[in-house]
Amino acid sequence: MNLQEIFGSLVFNDEVMRQRLPKETYRALHRTIAEGTALEPEVASVVANTMKDWAIEKGATHYTHWFQPMTGVTAEKHDSFLSPVEGGRAIMEFRGKELMKGEPDASSFPSGGLRATFEARGYTAWDPTSYAFIKDDTLCIPTAFCSYGGHALDKKTPLLRSTEALNRQAKRILRLLGHLDVKRVDVTVGPEQEYFLIDRDLYLKRKDLIYTGRTLFGAKPPKGQELDDHYFGNIKPRVAAFMREVDEELWKLGVSAKTEHNEVAPCQHELAPIFTSANLATDHNQLTMEIMKRTAAKHGFACLLHEKPFAGVNGSGKHNNWSMCTDTGVNLLEPGETPAENAQFLLFLVSVIKAVDLHQDLLRVSIASAGNDNRLGGNEAPPYIVSMFLGDELEAILDALEHHNAYVAGARTDMNIGVRTLPRIPKDTTDRNRTSPFAFTGNKFEFRMPGSSMSIAEVNVVLNTAVADVLQGFADRMEQAVDIRSAVEQIVVETITNHKRIIFNGNNYSEEWRLEAQRRGLKHLPSTPDALPYLITEENIALFERQQVYSRQELLSRYEILLENYCKVISIEAHTMLDMMNQEILPAVIKYAGQVGRSAAEQKRLLPDLNPVYEEKLVSRLTNLINDMGWQTEELAKALNGLEDTGDSLAQARYCRETVFRNMQSLRALADEAETITDESAWPFPGYAELLTTK
Ligand code: ADP
Ligand code: MG
Repeated sequence: MNLQEIFGSLVFNDEVMRQRLPKETYRALHRTIAEGTALEPEVASVVANTMKDWAIEKGATHYTHWFQPMTGVTAEKHDSFLSPVEGGRAIMEFRGKELMKGEPDASSFPSGGLRATFEARGYTAWDPTSYAFIKDDTLCIPTAFCSYGGHALDKKTPLLRSTEALNRQAKRILRLLGHLDVKRVDVTVGPEQEYFLIDRDLYLKRKDLIYTGRTLFGAKPPKGQELDDHYFGNIKPRVAAFMREVDEELWKLGVSAKTEHNEVAPCQHELAPIFTSANLATDHNQLTMEIMKRTAAKHGFACLLHEKPFAGVNGSGKHNNWSMCTDTGVNLLEPGETPAENAQFLLFLVSVIKAVDLHQDLLRVSIASAGNDNRLGGNEAPPYIVSMFLGDELEAILDALEHHNAYVAGARTDMNIGVRTLPRIPKDTTDRNRTSPFAFTGNKFEFRMPGSSMSIAEVNVVLNTAVADVLQGFADRMEQAVDIRSAVEQIVVETITNHKRIIFNGNNYSEEWRLEAQRRGLKHLPSTPDALPYLITEENIALFERQQVYSRQELLSRYEILLENYCKVISIEAHTMLDMMNQEILPAVIKYAGQVGRSAAEQKRLLPDLNPVYEEKLVSRLTNLINDMGWQTEELAKALNGLEDTGDSLAQARYCRETVFRNMQSLRALADEAETITDESAWPFPGYAELLTTK
């Protein structure tokens, strides 16, 4: 296999454009991509035609506007290149108009009330900053999805707006620092994707996995991850074949999948791409999830992207590695070689610290989902409390800066910005704090709270917007300053002093930290219904409007969609539990208890002197459990019935959490106990031990 030939072979990327487009067109398009200028219709026509020819050569017959509605998955509406002409013939056609704009029926996508009836249609608009690609013989054109009133109905639009906001403010800062050559500051993102692979045959035997992506029942296996023999262990041949194919498929699509190793839990793995611009990284991650699922099926696996497929076993996250980079190639979070570079590095570093401290609530909101609630706060996942880890070295530097300034004003010799070169910040993995939700890892931040199944769009929207807003404040101050250097120093020191409460280097999983965080006044929002109302506080609406990322209406609609979605997920889970209980678990346990009872009776008849004590005890335990499970099943059904009459969507979400979910947990506990004392062959579906030992 020739990697060079394969990589990006199905992508209409810069190289293809340079080769195929007329020079003028290429230059115009390139300006659009590099500087975000509008695309002229004539240019679009030429690009469309060239794109079509290229796609047909590669075997494509259809095209689609590929977009990311609020459902969290990608959507496509396929149209054929064939246009009928007179005489019953057809020609291959694809016009600039079709490239630029599509009109899928938007009414079936969630809009949270945004799309009033007169706006029933939405439109998709080409995003030329994400290359078109071919998937399943279809030319896919990455697009934004809006209502006719211009409201964003998707995840890409706000993401593009937020990278633009960050670009605006970061460029202002850089100009003030004398970098007049920088034309664009882009956000770079590398999402590490965790997932489980289990046998497809076993997967298909469990309604919970099929309908909800996670096991709603399941007693713990005797051997879980306690032995730690899976992490970086040997990869089984079948898994290796799966990984190889995923890599190849992704490479063709221009996704640079890089490392794949076993994760902590049995059957858990990780895929990390090489970082790229936030917009592309988001598109690529959507493609990655799709390709992984599809390839798994081909290899007899089911790929589980759920945040917590198995209780008591590590869940899956998606670490969002994030930084800012100039078009001149400077990573703004890379500690520099010279004092001037250090000042700049420290300024951008503290901008992130301040942004995270000020907007803990929004970061929590950005990763809130029913699935992720099951994972966060578990012993292996970041807690609900947002805090940052900087590493000893960097923390010592910030500490010195802060105190020299405070205590020996005017006599700062050692650590003031602009005098000494910072020591190299080690990127070594060994001393990393794996428990931190938000860690500085040498030249980027790694946000570890996002869940494995979610789009990374929202987290990056929040990060970009929050940092842009802080940078705006910094730039405003620097513009007023007589001496920029001392202004920078003041800003850095002040920011450390005011926001260091968000920094925590210890064990984030500990109970002490929860108490300490409370003392520091950090937000603790354990569930999605606790977190979501923060999306629409007046302060946060003002923030998003100020940075032109979301309008008030868009935020209100998103809030509705998120709440609705939360309730939907919990309801589906509850319904699935009821089904499994009534149709599978209860019948199986009743049958088994009957068997044991009959065998005890038989034994008494045959051997009247010997009392079958154990069997009788077992029958009574099983019978008690059957009664309890029966009762609890009814309780859950009642709880679920009460959902509709519970008031507005926030009240419903809270009810789901406090009433429906609590009943689900009680029911599960009973069923799991029953599982441990029921004949394995009588249990109606495969248990944890079998699921988690994939050959
Ligand atoms: P580790 O594997 O120890 O977590 P890596 O250096 O392998 O760390 O990086 C993890 C992820 O972070 C990769 O996807 C990588 O591409 C990404 N990454 C590295 N540098 C940056 C950066 N400047 N901006 C965004 N992501 C980055
Ligand atoms: Mg990592």
